[in-house]
Amino acid sequence: MDVVWFGLLVLGIALLGMLAGGGRSREDLRARRRWDAAFEQESRRTSHTDATRMLLCRSCGISASERAGRCPRCGAIL
Ligand SMILES: [Zn+2]
Repeated sequence: MDVVWFGLLVLGIALLGMLAGGGRSREDLRARRRWDAAFEQESRRTSHTDATRMLLCRSCGISASERAGRCPRCGAIL
């Protein structure tokens, strides 16, 4: 009987350890996801502020920034 109780105790401790480990890894995943989101936001921000992103207007041919989305002269969608 003592051996059975000892086995249950060991099982309980192992289960607790697994739960604690699982919680920690879940926390790590959340932190990494937050970091990924921050990195993605940063990369998107830098690409938006890139001054070389110019497009030629298909209607009048002048160069306009891709960020504006519209030609500054004729208003056509780039
Ligand atoms: Zn135009």
